This record gives sequence, C-alpha cells and structure tokens, in this order.
Amino acid sequence: MKFNKVLFIALYTLSTMAIADSPRLNLPLYGKGEVSGESRSSNLNFRENIHDSLVKSGRVALTFDDGPGKYTAKLVDILDQYNVKATFFILKKNVRTKSRRDLVIRMIQNGHIIASHTVNHANSNKLEKPVFEKEVRDSLQFVLDLYAEAGVDPYFFFRFPYAAHGLREDYHHFDSMRDVSLELLGDNCLFYSFWDQDTVDWAVGSNSKRFAITQAELESNLLAQFKPNQQLTTTEMNDQGRMYVKREVISEALKGGVVLMHDIKPKTVDSVRVFLEAHQNFKDDNPDQALEFVTLAEVQEYFLPRGNQCIANSHEEVLLD
Ligand SMILES: [Zn+2]
Repeated sequence: MKFNKVLFIALYTLSTMAIADSPRLNLPLYGKGEVSGESRSSNLNFRENIHDSLVKSGRVALTFDDGPGKYTAKLVDILDQYNVKATFFILKKNVRTKSRRDLVIRMIQNGHIIASHTVNHANSNKLEKPVFEKEVRDSLQFVLDLYAEAGVDPYFFFRFPYAAHGLREDYHHFDSMRDVSLELLGDNCLFYSFWDQDTVDWAVGSNSKRFAITQAELESNLLAQFKPNQQLTTTEMNDQGRMYVKREVISEALKGGVVLMHDIKPKTVDSVRVFLEAHQNFKDDNPDQALEFVTLAEVQEYFLPRGNQCIANSHEEVLLD
C-alpha cells in the first residue's frame, strides 16, 4: 500500500437519514476481490466520510499496534520524555498480567489513547460473524473497563488486524461493528482507523528475507516525516498480487500522517527514540517547521460526532469531545 494513500477514518452514521442516501463505501482494497458493500449487505448505513490525508498537514499521529508487549513501557518512557502522546491499538490477549494492566491504565492517565485491535489478532475476513462480533465486543468492553478503572472518559477506536475487512460473502464487518456499537455504546460511536504511512517495522528483524528492512531503513522512514531526501521503504503489490519491498528517495518530507508501527518490536522503540531526538534538534533550529504530534482523538475534523451521546458500560452516558 502506498504511504500517501488517503487516510480513511470512517464512522457510523449520525442519523438514520443517511440510510436513505445509502452512499457507496469507498474503502481501500486489501487482498483479492472488491469490497462491494451493496452486494454484500443490505444493511449498511455508514456515511461516506473520507477525509484528506494528514500528509503535509504538519500533524503526525503515531499509532502502535499489537501490544502491549515487553518493550511498551520503554517506549512510553521515550514518548513521555518528549511529551508526545500516541494511540495504541492493543490486543486484549496481551493484557493478562497485573503489571501490563497497570501500565495500560497509566498510559491512559498520561494522555495516550488506548484502542481496540481485537482480542486475538485473527484475520477478520476468515471469521464467522458471531466470532468476529465477539472479538469486537470483548475487546471494546475491555477497553471501556480500562478507561473506567483509569477514571478517564473513553474514546472508541478500532483497527482491523492486517487491515482485513469487507471480503465476507455472508456479512459485512461494518454492519457487525455498528451492531456492537449500538449494543455497548450507542449508535455512531465506534471509529475505525487505517493509516497514511506504513513504516514496515513489522519486517524489521523479520525471518523473511523477501520483506526484511534494516533498522537504518526504518529510522529513515520516520526521519522522512521532517527531513527531505530520505530513503522511504514501502511495500507494494506486483501484478501477480505478491507484496514486495520498494525503496525510493523522496525529495520532500512527508510532513504529517497517521503512522503505523508496532510496539512489540524492539527496533521500533529504538527507532522512535532516534526519530524524536532528531526531531527535537530540528525543532530547536526550526520551530516554525516542527511537526505537531497528535492522538487520533485530537484530529478534530476526523471526529464528527462531537456532542454525540455515547453510552459506556450500558449505564453511564459519556459525551465525546
Ligand atoms: Zn496488528
């Protein structure tokens, strides 16, 4: 996927009026086949809500998937050192010990966003409907419980493992998410997020030579956010549908984006330190060109249902702001 693909953060319709409009979903395609909402489901009431990318906006949302893991605490220390808040799409299965739970609660209290990446990181396109809905429901309820324990009003973000969605013949994932949202939170309360820049950190230290990128290449991917003439390593699909690694030097800095990383990778944590230290030095010399680090919840134009009444834990009413 190209790094500069438009960022898609979509959300549930704000009113039933959108059902009448029934706009076609215009989502990125992953894997084989087309996402065809109308043919897969008669029950879509998502409003088309595709925004411009954060690339060139000067704002960067660092997002970390698949944690928490044994390097997450170190990463949070680095982020805190530079006063950078990030968004973490966690797996419920990775929060089994008290120390992990305490860490996540501290992260919430420190202003990081905790979001759902399901319980088990299964490929949604391979899940029967009840299993997928259980993954969403259980992970979302878990995130809500963490926010309640932290004493912080929750945010409701979701990211599909492998970005896999929309390829079922028998149901559409968005219908299920809407139903779970209605059940746990109220209507229109669950956001899903993709990304602008895949750093390909999942291939750092990979056993697969076909995908392996070096730590220096990962650092360069991050430095390209504010430095011109950096090598950018991305993945692309060839004509046979096989993914390959593409390397190119980009003359202009990216200057913004929702950035995909994984806090379970030690080299990611090291690269974030290099990136934030270099950015701090850059900021000292060029304060007007510095990046602004935001969480997804701070990207207000992506967050349309402000004032929408969402219900946490079926009892307590939460006002999204
Ligand atoms: Zn993942």
